[in-house]
Amino acid sequence: MTFVSTNPFDDDKLHEECGIFGIYGTPDAAAHTALGLHALQHRGQEASGIVSYDGTRFNSHRAMGHVGANFGQPKVIQGLPGDAAIGHNRYSTSGDTVLRNVQPIYADLAFGGIAVAHNGNLTNAYAVRSRLVKSGSIFQSTMDTEVITHLIARSEKHHVVDRIVDALKQVEGAYSLVCLTAKKLIGLRDPTGVRPLVLGHLKGAWILASETCALDIIGAEFVRDVEPGELIVIDESGLNSHKPFPPTASRFCIFEYIYFSRPDSIVEGHSVYNARKRIGAELARENGVDADVVIPVPDSGVPAAIGYAAEAKIPFELGIIRNHYIGRTFIEPTDQIRHLGVKLKHNANRVHIEGKRVILVDDSIVRGTTSTKIIEMVREAGAREVHMRIASPPTTHSCFYGVDTPERSKLLAAIHDLEAMRTYIKADSLAFVSMDGLYRAMGQKGRDAAKPQFCDACFSGDYPIPLTDETGGQTSRSVQLSLLAETA
Ligand code: AMP
Repeated sequence: MTFVSTNPFDDDKLHEECGIFGIYGTPDAAAHTALGLHALQHRGQEASGIVSYDGTRFNSHRAMGHVGANFGQPKVIQGLPGDAAIGHNRYSTSGDTVLRNVQPIYADLAFGGIAVAHNGNLTNAYAVRSRLVKSGSIFQSTMDTEVITHLIARSEKHHVVDRIVDALKQVEGAYSLVCLTAKKLIGLRDPTGVRPLVLGHLKGAWILASETCALDIIGAEFVRDVEPGELIVIDESGLNSHKPFPPTASRFCIFEYIYFSRPDSIVEGHSVYNARKRIGAELARENGVDADVVIPVPDSGVPAAIGYAAEAKIPFELGIIRNHYIGRTFIEPTDQIRHLGVKLKHNANRVHIEGKRVILVDDSIVRGTTSTKIIEMVREAGAREVHMRIASPPTTHSCFYGVDTPERSKLLAAIHDLEAMRTYIKADSLAFVSMDGLYRAMGQKGRDAAKPQFCDACFSGDYPIPLTDETGGQTSRSVQLSLLAETA
């Protein structure tokens, strides 16, 4: 049967990961933004956009595809003049991303124009949107972010910053935002601080970006992380910081360290690269095995494998070579293509595998597709034994805060125990770093169950922010899906 979703977010799969960037106070604002987005390409590869303000009007260019293809032409950048700009990279696994869903979102409101770029995911967007639609709002896109611009538009406060705060007090979820108005660049992180946002400075210009690697590329100095619940306003008078939300325990996403952030970024005081090496060392201490060689699944498994090999005193070799000219396997739209994708992406470096007992290190197992294919490839290349070591605990729960993960029923660890997973991926042994080991690698004594320092919901099911759209009565997405199942 044909199903026309009544949930506008379904066709977007709800979960997106994104990179955001904003700059204020330099004549080449759009060019800097394009460079920043290029450094943040790993956070979103499906589409990108920039909005600039030139003193009289907003200029916008948004397109599907990579930053280089969209903003590599001088004439595109020349069409985005102005001293201030924001930009966005979009990542979504769904094939039906359309241009109207590409950010930054721009809206003409009673007080003037505003552009918004969002990294994260709102967990009550559907509930709020339903309420707004009932009272007459007309939405242009299926993005959760558009809910925020509608709430800003409807706020009765007089100043734009107060309107933004008013809007955000009505939403739940994870968000790092950059907003551009005619006079201000505004950046903020949700009170739980799930997604990153950093502040930088370059010759009098202020920068806000998802990660420090976006500051490095333009030669900007890293000033500090924007704090959870902090709202930063940059305008002619300089930079002002506000704390408009009641204090909440911060829970930064631990998966940013494991997989998502770039290894050369410094995130909340930790080098991502060193964190990954320490996780690898913990993994070796907890789950040692006799072997001849440690081989990473490139690229995301490399730092953890370096840490593992050093700790285990086993030689490290690049026994799998990655073809860099295709995207991440995860963004392939169907299971069939995803299976092919692994082979397009990796090849065995036979001289370091043949006749060896191999330890393979990867950052995570999601569906199990990558591990299964890589192990098959390594066996075909003549490995005597293959021991899979994973630098995260088993991924047992979906993320609703902005990291794309499939629904729970497709997560290998949600539906199999350790031995069944080992059999599924056809490894001689399989082990994951423990939750305490992961926290130790992040400088803690272990996971304090009463007060965990990070959001680790994908491994624990402990969701720090309510999942209203998933659980709440008529507005629940899962209720809709179960109704759909009944009528199918
Ligand atoms: P899978 O093949 O489904 O088990 O996915 C595991 C692989 O995907 C690992 O090699 C990870 O590096 C990578 N991965 C894990 N989480 C994500 C994510 N949210 N987006 C893209 N890739 C991911």
